[in-house]
Amino acid sequence: MKKIAFAVFFSFIAIGLFTFAKKKTKSKEPLFRPIKTIIIDPGHGGMDPGARGTFSTEANVSLAVSLKLGDAIQKEFPDIKIIYTRTTDIVPGNKNSIEGGLFYRADLANQSNGDLFMAIHCNSAGKAPGGWYGKRISHYTTTTKKVKVKKKWVTKTVQVPVYENYWIENLPKGTETYVWAISKNDSKIKSVAKNGEYYGEMDSTLNIQLPDPSDPAEKARMLIYAQNYFRKSLSIADLIQKEFAASGRVDRGVKQRNDKGIWVLQATGMPSVLVEIGFISNKSEEEYLNSEKGQNEIVKNILDAFRTYKHKLDEKAAATDKQ
Ligand SMILES: [Zn+2]
Repeated sequence: MKKIAFAVFFSFIAIGLFTFAKKKTKSKEPLFRPIKTIIIDPGHGGMDPGARGTFSTEANVSLAVSLKLGDAIQKEFPDIKIIYTRTTDIVPGNKNSIEGGLFYRADLANQSNGDLFMAIHCNSAGKAPGGWYGKRISHYTTTTKKVKVKKKWVTKTVQVPVYENYWIENLPKGTETYVWAISKNDSKIKSVAKNGEYYGEMDSTLNIQLPDPSDPAEKARMLIYAQNYFRKSLSIADLIQKEFAASGRVDRGVKQRNDKGIWVLQATGMPSVLVEIGFISNKSEEEYLNSEKGQNEIVKNILDAFRTYKHKLDEKAAATDKQ
């Protein structure tokens, strides 16, 4: 498995180098280059429906919102290239395993020299979507039973509980945006070299050497990229949450998570966020997530955040050019 991972890793570096060699990217300051390519990643898909609501799945809601988001960004910024990891209900790349789909997502993002990776997901909590029945004591009743006291049977009055079923509504709701866990920064550093941006300063006519992360100078340079991506990811994550909050959504904040579902964030050599657009397990939020109004509002929130983020980067790039 490790050997395969290594082979995959180095073949991506090679692909990255070749694409770069063809493109001859000329960038004075790659850390603040303008946004050219965005990867939008609708979570799950195909054999993997993700979380289930009472009448919809995370995979389908994420896809609908992702497509609308891409359209909205494209309309306002026609020069930006939008790449989707999937546009139908499939495992991305038509892979036959969930893991295969995850690798495909990261590879596609890295090979596309993405400037931003945005994954769209729905959250889920509780025992069942919508709610479930619990048992509780409704009242006590009096009954008699025979007990032995000093070898004699006597009748005693006792209280016994009477239970009732009651409905427990699945209440958690709101939005949260994830960045990769800082403990995974080493993986992110390795991913840096998979993206063509890392080679932006090199002259393609030179005899390019593969970057060696064990070389301290190279590792330091990769770390600068990884930290820069982390700051950018935090920045757009924060902007997205602020827009959600301004629309009256419950703001659960910007978070770091360290699990399989978020692996793709550390595997992409670019700023990357995962947006949990709401709880599909909450009945009213599931309705909102499936409604035209809800989806349009979510798209507007993310688009507004993206516009501010892009503006900030453009300003920084312009300031760098003047130096
Ligand atoms: Zn998900």
